[in-house]
Amino acid sequence: MVIQYQCPDCGADLEFHAETGMMKCGSCGYEVKAEELVAASGEDPDAYLHDYEHFQEETRYHTFGEENAEQYVCKNCGAVIIAGEDTSATHCEFCGSPVVLGDRLSGELAPTNVIPFKISKQQAEEAFRKWKKNGFLLKKDFKNADRVKSLTGIYVPFWLFDVKAQGEVNAHCTSKHTYERGDYIITETSHFDVFRRVDIDYLKIPADASEKMEDSMMDKLEPFSYGEMKKFQTPYLSGYLAEKYNYTDQDLFPRVEQRVRGYARSYIRSTIHGYSTVNITREHLKARQKKAEYTLLPVWMFCYDYKQCDHNFYMNGQTGKIVGKPPLSKGKVALLFFSLAAVSELLLSLLIFLLS
Ligand SMILES: [Zn+2]
Ligand SMILES: [Zn+2]
Repeated sequence: MVIQYQCPDCGADLEFHAETGMMKCGSCGYEVKAEELVAASGEDPDAYLHDYEHFQEETRYHTFGEENAEQYVCKNCGAVIIAGEDTSATHCEFCGSPVVLGDRLSGELAPTNVIPFKISKQQAEEAFRKWKKNGFLLKKDFKNADRVKSLTGIYVPFWLFDVKAQGEVNAHCTSKHTYERGDYIITETSHFDVFRRVDIDYLKIPADASEKMEDSMMDKLEPFSYGEMKKFQTPYLSGYLAEKYNYTDQDLFPRVEQRVRGYARSYIRSTIHGYSTVNITREHLKARQKKAEYTLLPVWMFCYDYKQCDHNFYMNGQTGKIVGKPPLSKGKVALLFFSLAAVSELLLSLLIFLLS
């Protein structure tokens, strides 16, 4: 099932326009809201809605593989669409027309939500240039080079988890009080048994469900603003790449569980204060999945060619936050190190001077 949106005025392709949030014709400038387009095309706007309980049952045993060998043909030029096994939105390689592969977005593969792109390709490019220039420790020719090999807007599949964390913690805490009496300095230590019980709901914790994307990079792209999240509709993908998930919510929950336990632990720890020492003696924390929603989040991917070595950078397509590992300049790192060393040397001499 190939979905392509044509301009009702001139027949050219309609694409999702990040800056206005509208579907726009690149040829005559016609604009229409994604929702109106879906209504006008006769597509069932609720085709992508599903009952979550039912959905979960289905996803549990679902695996992907060779069954996705279907051939897709561009409605615009008739060419066969070349798309990776996981791709759900792309461009026709021959005529450039944006195509959405509908069957890779329906049934158990139907996303519940999407955060549409808010940052346009041009804005992304400019922001990357600026970011590159401001980097203090970047290699000089990296900073000056203009070799962005490709800049791709991609909707990355995530699961958004609602998690309930419950637990109990016991701690042995002490509080010290020192005072002088006559010739003696007396230290009084009081001991406390501290107990905390928590019940916290964490909402919309994202976990990237794409095999291709680096988990640590995707985590660093957070936070996303969920106030701008929309019910999923295919027009949002038009003009971008999109991938379907490789990992189910069950696959990813252990990662999320760990994260939530960490949050709960530091929250509990933050409530135990005012003591001289805190020693956790018992900790019983558990995290339970309440809900997981399949959600597509917007990411700009920069493929950067630097001395034959590809450096990938990512930008949150909603907020503009950039993450990645730029090549560090050894010279500058060394300079920084020596200036820090010089400063500490100075402090040390000052201290020796004051003490002598
Ligand atoms: Zn048009
Ligand atoms: Zn085509």
